[in-house]
Amino acid sequence: MYTRPLAHLIEQLQRLPGVGSKTAQRLALHILKRPDDEVEALAKALLAAKQQVGYCSVCFHLSAEPVCDICSNPSRDETTICVVADSRDLIALEKTREYRGKYHVLGGLISPMDGISPDSLNIQSLVRRVSGGKVSEVIMAISPSVEGETTTLYVGGLLKPFVKVTRIAFGIPMGGDLEYADEVTLAKAIEGRRELD
Ligand code: ZN
Repeated sequence: MYTRPLAHLIEQLQRLPGVGSKTAQRLALHILKRPDDEVEALAKALLAAKQQVGYCSVCFHLSAEPVCDICSNPSRDETTICVVADSRDLIALEKTREYRGKYHVLGGLISPMDGISPDSLNIQSLVRRVSGGKVSEVIMAISPSVEGETTTLYVGGLLKPFVKVTRIAFGIPMGGDLEYADEVTLAKAIEGRRELD
């Protein structure tokens, strides 16, 4: 129906999460109407982000540097590590401005149904960080879904021999994503954390 290059653009846009065929068509037609330099800037930003952004070698947050800004910031408290599923959750917690410790990004949640085993997550690196001796508390900030519970209990169990392990309070709705919780709720969830049984 659309001429070949336009159909191709729509196909590519439709592969993005949350973009259905109508949205893809609207975006594609919008892009065609924009000035050349603006479209070029978009295309360059896509490539540059993909090519330059990797993972922090310490905490696995998305970073263009080998070590991210949070890990290399000397004013952050290195005795506390907050464990999150992904970088979006880290960003949500950073927005509260309540937490001044460090992070560890697991890169997902344990989910045997989806073939995600503990080995495919950044768990061994966390155990190494914690067993180094500088860390006194690990806060599990994982959303309370079935996979989240499995992950919290598994990781917590591995870390308990070394440190105090706490979990954030459940102001967060069951199955809810941390990133959708408002900042006040998240700040309260950290404040109200309790020790893992
Ligand atoms: Zn880092």
